[in-house]
Amino acid sequence: MEKHLLSKSTFIKGMQCHKALYLGKHHKELKAEVSEAQEAIFSQGTRVGELAQQLFPGGVDCTPESYYDFQKAVIRTQEEIAKGTKIIYEAAFQFNGVLAALDILVNDDNGWKAYEVKSSTSISVTYHMDATIQYYAITNSGIELKDIFIVHINNEYEKNGPIDLKELFTIESVKDIVLGIMPGIPNQVAALKKVLNQNEIPDIDIGLHCSDPYGCDFSAHCWKDIPENSVFDIANLRANKKFELYDSGVISFNEIPEDFPLNENQWMQVNSELNNESFIDKKKIKNFVNDLQYPLYFMDFETFATAVPVFDRSNPYQQLVFQYSLHILPTENGELIHKEFLAETNGVDPRIPFIERLIGDCGTTGDILVYNIGFEKGKLKDLAEAFPNYLFQIGKMIERLKDLMIPFQQRWYYTPAMRGSYSIKKVLPALVPELSYEDLTIKEGGTASNTFAKMLLGEFEGDVMQTRKDLLEYCKLDTMAMVEILKTLKSV
Ligand code: SF4
Repeated sequence: MEKHLLSKSTFIKGMQCHKALYLGKHHKELKAEVSEAQEAIFSQGTRVGELAQQLFPGGVDCTPESYYDFQKAVIRTQEEIAKGTKIIYEAAFQFNGVLAALDILVNDDNGWKAYEVKSSTSISVTYHMDATIQYYAITNSGIELKDIFIVHINNEYEKNGPIDLKELFTIESVKDIVLGIMPGIPNQVAALKKVLNQNEIPDIDIGLHCSDPYGCDFSAHCWKDIPENSVFDIANLRANKKFELYDSGVISFNEIPEDFPLNENQWMQVNSELNNESFIDKKKIKNFVNDLQYPLYFMDFETFATAVPVFDRSNPYQQLVFQYSLHILPTENGELIHKEFLAETNGVDPRIPFIERLIGDCGTTGDILVYNIGFEKGKLKDLAEAFPNYLFQIGKMIERLKDLMIPFQQRWYYTPAMRGSYSIKKVLPALVPELSYEDLTIKEGGTASNTFAKMLLGEFEGDVMQTRKDLLEYCKLDTMAMVEILKTLKSV
């Protein structure tokens, strides 16, 4: 059997951008490396897929030994069908150069049914396209499909005891939608094959398609000529507005027409960059700083989330706290104290030791400063809801929260180095350049979260002791950054 030209994923990629399809086949060297975040998403998808197989237990797995051996999987699938196998996992089909591997194929009393598993909580247009390509390859391989379903995560499921698969997963038929898309597939397949067989890279400029439906692996290549401080760096400007400027030939800040509808903050970013100008509202900053009540607590949480809930009283993808850092300034000129917590990964729900330690560490008086109050407040409310016996103490902590982000969000303090952003990752280097995340092993929250989740699920392969230290260092820097940011605010 000849090797396939298109797979389900390259078909979707080609629908997004012909250039991406072509580069993926002929210029793999331009492709970005798989990031840690992408890897975490892939592993999550694999875990969910394996769990969903248990909805139809006892099947035969046709997964090929190697990624390059799909044609063997196609033959094996046909053999299993001929043998009368009723349930096949990773059933592979190939038709007209298009390969499609299906998560679960079932032959019950009513005939063949196809199930594609997704680790998301809803069905997107891309998933409909995805299912249609499968339907195309399967039905054209001689299998009459009675129905085709997408199996996805039900985000309203709450774990209480062993995972209830029927509650965790939602199974939705997409056959009617698939049949509506099917007539266009042969032409689309022909068009994409033509792209793959041409001699030149398709002449396609960057556009909204570069991130819709997915971020493109070739962005670094196609976007290499976009300079720093381009219209694409204007904070909180919708992508279609950015491309409106780009398509009219405007790339740099100094080319933006005066009458272009940017809001006040966006013009502030542009003008402050062009004139190298900072904005500082000393009066408002003074009021903010003078209003703080000591002892002052600087608090930061880290969370993790899994598609399949690990602990009772939690939902799919719910962000669960596992770590905090707390710097304490007993008086305005007092000595800084540091406290921290990092949950064990021994199967105990991290939320209970977390909240018990936090209640003890936070005392009962003084303001608790956080950066972006919505996050910490939301997590504290979740804890109170899941463990109502701590409701009173958590309520008292919530009353003491104050947001250190306000002076930057309100633009009471703005410098060009903040690049239009008020996130701590942009504010810190602008205000305290000597304090940097760059020297840390764990440099951002996403890595912290994925690392802890891996340890918890027993999938972590590195040095656990060292990595726990790295996690503590990362979180500690977050609250140290807040201490230093407040110092800078006081100094103005
Ligand atoms: S970065 Fe944009 S233009 Fe370039 S290949 Fe990807 S989608 Fe196409």
